[in-house]
Amino acid sequence: MSAHVSASGAGEAERLFIGGGWTSALDGATFENTSPIDAAGPPSVVASAGRQDVEAAVAAAVAAAPGWRGTPPAVRTRRLHAVADAIDGRHETITECIVGEVGKPVREASAEVTRAAEVFRFHAGQAMSESGALYRQAAGAGVVAVERRPVGVAALITPWNFPLAIPAWKTAPALAYGNTVILKVASQAPSTGMHLARCLDDAELPPGVVNVLAGPGAVVGQALASHPLVRVLSFTGSTQAGRQLRTVASEAGKRIQLEMGGHNPLVVLRDAQISAAVEAAFVGAFSYAGQKCTATRRIFVQDEVYGAFREQLVARIERAGLGDPRDDECEIGPLIDERAVAAALEAIGRAETEGARVLSGGYRVDGELPILAPTLLEHVSDRNYFSCNEVFAPVVSINPVQTLDAAIARCNATEYGLTAGLFTSDAKAIRRFEERIETGMMRVNSATVGADVHVPFGGVKASGYGPREQGSAARELFTSSVTIYRSS
Ligand code: NAP
Repeated sequence: MSAHVSASGAGEAERLFIGGGWTSALDGATFENTSPIDAAGPPSVVASAGRQDVEAAVAAAVAAAPGWRGTPPAVRTRRLHAVADAIDGRHETITECIVGEVGKPVREASAEVTRAAEVFRFHAGQAMSESGALYRQAAGAGVVAVERRPVGVAALITPWNFPLAIPAWKTAPALAYGNTVILKVASQAPSTGMHLARCLDDAELPPGVVNVLAGPGAVVGQALASHPLVRVLSFTGSTQAGRQLRTVASEAGKRIQLEMGGHNPLVVLRDAQISAAVEAAFVGAFSYAGQKCTATRRIFVQDEVYGAFREQLVARIERAGLGDPRDDECEIGPLIDERAVAAALEAIGRAETEGARVLSGGYRVDGELPILAPTLLEHVSDRNYFSCNEVFAPVVSINPVQTLDAAIARCNATEYGLTAGLFTSDAKAIRRFEERIETGMMRVNSATVGADVHVPFGGVKASGYGPREQGSAARELFTSSVTIYRSS
């Protein structure tokens, strides 16, 4: 398995997809991207879009908008099914690309490709769902029709950690509801994004309906967020970049959806099934080396079972399959690059200075790949640096708590609110947790990570802003309603 699987062909520079054609950047600029599994090898070379390319993509999306908006739903449905088929047809190639480009363990990368196809199939069906509602007029014989219509040109800005699934779950609903799209993929995962562009191209969407750009977020992302002809912005990434984009896009009067960072808690009560809770904590904290917005970052365990839980979790960490993500047995692979390892080590050091104790890990694993040993911290206060900042790495804290209410207070003592988990067999405790936890999503007796394609996804507080993604909830962002009074 090679580290770089270009969508443009072996050894070719990755190109942009604008107006139905594959093109270099207008000024000829390129950038390089290094693989986390072959940092010493040749980087991939990628066309680097600038403002002129953004203009070209917006012009293409604007020109294509009336035609796509007027395309019968059944045709949109067929096109989206064709995208799903194209993803399935390239399953092995895209899986290999994801592994090489972002170091995701092969089993997780393969599952991501499967999920991206499922996303397109789900939204293919949504294109044929109801497009409005009918009411009787309050004071008269007439009716009021409320019609859902596409918003227009959508700019979608995506991160590297789910380089296929997130572009898929933004693009598919935008298209299903009749919008045209400019997708800006992450600079650390451009080839995976361009493989999706290939699948969209294979599905014979009319030229300009989807345009895919790579290039620096500070240029391309900002140009899209401020462009007057872009009507809706959907962003997934860090809270810091999301907040900057919100300022720019609000100023420009756009609809905005931001899915941002997380600092997700898992609570284990004394009546929980401990072995299941330990496995869920392990998977939640360490799958894809903790590089998931939904990763478990803080674990709170009731006093009575704290010792047993901690012992079993440390033992599970010691059995973890660390190594090359191309290996089927790999559970924890590399971080995205050496800088990420250095940043995590610095955060761990800072946490220790502020009173935390390292129970396991806390070091870079010897070897060529940038692997951080899965790290378990104890005695981490709510004000500790680690508790207040999203450390995007396989690092999690564990702390004892006396009661459920004490655990809930600690869960909520963060600016984030993406997802939360609870292990217990007590129905009343579950209900109390559901009612009091500040979160966009929660899971009872399962790991904090993972998401179904047919239900809403998103967070509150610093984790999310605007309407939810996925499922039929995506309609809120990608359509606007028109209220029509019809009297005879
Ligand atoms: P990021 O640095 O914020 O980048 C995300 C995207 O935004 C990239 O395409 C990036 O372009 C672009 N960008 C960066 N700075 C920008 C700016 N100032 N203006 C406009 N665009 C900008 O995030 P990341 O490192 O790729 O992803 C990790 C983060 O995403 C974590 O915080 C994680 O929790 C979060 N995340 C959240 C969710 C969720 O659903 N809540 C899901 C996955 C990930 P470049 O690549 O060119 O810099």
